[in-house]
Amino acid sequence: IKGQYAKHFAVYDDNLRNKLLREQAITDSMEKALAEKQFFIYLQPKYTIQDDRLAGAESLVRWNHPEWGFMSPAEFIPLFEKNGFITRLDQFVWVETCKVLRRWLDQGYQPIPISVNVSRADVYQADLADILLRLIQKYSLPPSLLHLEITESAYTENPEQIIHTVGNLRELGFIIEMDDFGTGYSSLNMLNKMPLDVLKLDMKFIQSETAKPIDQGILRFIMGLARWMNLSVVAEGVETREQLERLRDIGCDYVQGYYFSKPMPCREFEILAQSLESQ
Ligand code: C2E
Ligand code: CA
Ligand code: CA
Ligand code: CA
Repeated sequence: IKGQYAKHFAVYDDNLRNKLLREQAITDSMEKALAEKQFFIYLQPKYTIQDDRLAGAESLVRWNHPEWGFMSPAEFIPLFEKNGFITRLDQFVWVETCKVLRRWLDQGYQPIPISVNVSRADVYQADLADILLRLIQKYSLPPSLLHLEITESAYTENPEQIIHTVGNLRELGFIIEMDDFGTGYSSLNMLNKMPLDVLKLDMKFIQSETAKPIDQGILRFIMGLARWMNLSVVAEGVETREQLERLRDIGCDYVQGYYFSKPMPCREFEILAQSLESQ
């Protein structure tokens, strides 16, 4: 038994060691990656659920490393949230997103809003509102074209401070979306004090492998609450027609997911948007 334990721990140590080595390698290469433009954004469309209109997009970061190839944000974002690099990467993503919006306006497209992710570390930065305000001024954009997705769990950390910061942003005209709604255990009592425009339902309510029968009831309840609070509701992670029908049934407003489209390069998104506009 003793021998087996030793073996077990050796494997465990190896996994942990590999993980730490990998994390160190990522940390060592992140600055260079930013300087050398290895990061870029993909856009994933959002549609109105009632009439299938293209209504917006979410900007999602991608990393194409010269040796490791495409890496999943699931691997590097949590690490960057730990080591603080996320604030710089997010600012890069916001700039790239503003450039895209500026280009759409310059080219005379019907502009649609783009949502960017704002990580918990960004929200607890004192000058977040200044940074974002300067950004939209630099690119002469109406703030309503830039939606800010803030994960629900960020709200539970220091509610007073986040209500203050996000309240400022909302007064400036940014649209505030609560991301991953249903995972962060924000109390209903808090929800009603949050400066918010949109609830973005977490995928677990929608996806068949994780959704429980009770979830349809919870979704109906959330929809009722959202209506009453004047919030619109986005469902993400929609992969099948059945999931879409269930969401339509409860009166959800917007949908995003592989059923419609995966995140794609900006140029591809523009071609899609143009083809829809000319229909
Ligand atoms: P998120 O903000 O909840 O973004 C949604 C994720 O779900 C994206 O993964 C998207 O590609 C994926 N997705 C969209 N539709 C479907 C679907 O139908 N089925 C499934 N299974 N997945 C779908 P992605 O791009 O890998 O990003 C993962 C997470 O990494 C994001 O979750 C977000 O928390 C973080 N992230 C991505 N880009 C950024 C960024 O620029 N800044 C920050 N702070 N976080 C980011
Ligand atoms: Ca998001
Ligand atoms: Ca998230
Ligand atoms: Ca989400």
